[in-house]
Amino acid sequence: MSVPQALLRALQEAVGSEHVLVEGDLSGYEKDWRRRWHGRAGAVVRPSSTEQVARVVRACLEAGVSMVPQGGNTGLVGGGVPDSSGTQVLVSLRRMNRIRQIDRANLTITADAGCVLQHVQEAADAEGLFFPLSLAAEGSCTLGGNLATNAGGTQVVRYGNARELCLGLEVVTPQGAVWPGLSGLRKDNTGYDLRNLYIGSEGTLGIITAATMKLVPKPAAVTTALTSCATLADCVALLGLAQSRLGPGLTGFEVMNRFSLALVARHFPQLPRPLPAAEWTVLLEQSDTEGEARARARFEQLLEAALEQGLVQDAVVAESLAQSQGLWHVRESIPLAQSEEGLNIKHDIALPVSAIPDFVARTDAALAAHQPGIRLVNFGHLGDGNLHYNVQAPDGVDAAQFLREQEPAVNDIVYDQVQACGGSISAEHGVGQLKREELQHRKSPVALATMRAIKQALDPKGLMNPGRVV
Ligand code: FAD
Ligand code: ZN
Repeated sequence: MSVPQALLRALQEAVGSEHVLVEGDLSGYEKDWRRRWHGRAGAVVRPSSTEQVARVVRACLEAGVSMVPQGGNTGLVGGGVPDSSGTQVLVSLRRMNRIRQIDRANLTITADAGCVLQHVQEAADAEGLFFPLSLAAEGSCTLGGNLATNAGGTQVVRYGNARELCLGLEVVTPQGAVWPGLSGLRKDNTGYDLRNLYIGSEGTLGIITAATMKLVPKPAAVTTALTSCATLADCVALLGLAQSRLGPGLTGFEVMNRFSLALVARHFPQLPRPLPAAEWTVLLEQSDTEGEARARARFEQLLEAALEQGLVQDAVVAESLAQSQGLWHVRESIPLAQSEEGLNIKHDIALPVSAIPDFVARTDAALAAHQPGIRLVNFGHLGDGNLHYNVQAPDGVDAAQFLREQEPAVNDIVYDQVQACGGSISAEHGVGQLKREELQHRKSPVALATMRAIKQALDPKGLMNPGRVV
């Protein structure tokens, strides 16, 4: 299968024939990062401007052909890869990679959707400012993908998700019109909030072509500390203590269970291991407006208090930027260590922080009863109530077979507990293909009907990333 000849010609006219790919190795666009989904694109189109995106959309609309927007293709829920029909047009935004403007007084940056996140961070840094969205995929994911999935990452506890950082968007609608919503306003109450409708819509309502994002003054110092805790309840108590002692200085609070760090040690033995293995390890990050010395002193006071209260067993404060980066590297290597270990069942869940210790105790026990030996890679952004509660096959059990046979039952166990605790089945990765069915059972019928009505109103022909989210 392929796309109709007339459409192919229209796409070539829109973006230039060298940027319409129909043959050769397209697997970089067709396969997702986890290698769970492998579709086939009728054509891959690489526009370089908003006008070109609009022309591509109008051509597809006229031909009745559906589109899949794609940025860095690092998404974890199969939202950005084509289906297997070989008839969809994959719209890659990667050539749209210009920083358009930095407004120092307004503390904003406006950039094309295809800018790699790290590129946006570096552009802000070069102006002595700071763009606080940060995640392990930042070297390849794009700003448009971050907004389309409302990405979270490691500094949400202080700065919020991609949504909280966004002030304005430019979007090509499913009709091929351009919504010029690139405002840098922090206040604008002029009716329905279109920006927030597109954020998190995973390419199902239109194609984001640019965004205006908030910047903050660059902190004078960023330091980290690592602690070990005996229980998850102690980690939660430590979070409360850190919030009260450090206030807005607390910019990261990550937990890692024993097995997640054991996997990192197994697959990346060269990485640092500054503390003895413990049930729970916490990585704290602090940003300070004055400097390194004050930040370290505040950490030391906090950790002394935590030791006195019996909340932590061991603690170390990083002595240099390199050491801090080493600690973050360990934390960010967990997903990679997991893929090295083999296919696994991922759950990106949100819970009230207060409910997390109970949730984990109950769900761990239910899974162990379901299949003895099941291995839990539990880590994540405790400061935001977001766990990556992942399930790996028991030692010696074939991972692919485990996934095939156990995924539905394991998901039921985990998501039933999530629901019972008032949580969400997707905290920061989105719905995509992976959780679309599950969402039908877990979200209120009123919410689902409203979402479908919005989709129908904005994309009545259903050509914008069909089969995802709703
Ligand atoms: P893609 O994968 O290309 O696309 C993702 C979705 O957005 C798809 O549905 C696609 O159709 C849509 N889309 C992409 N661009 C556009 C656009 N311009 N307009 C409309 N729709 C579009 N996520 C977190 O939130 N926090 C983390 O800490 C985190 N860590 C990660 C670590 C690793 C190692 C990896 C591989 C992923 C991680 N992610 C994390 C997943 C996260 O969703 C992505 O990294 C990122 O936000 C997606 O950006 P992307 O450009 O790669 O989007
Ligand atoms: Zn995460």
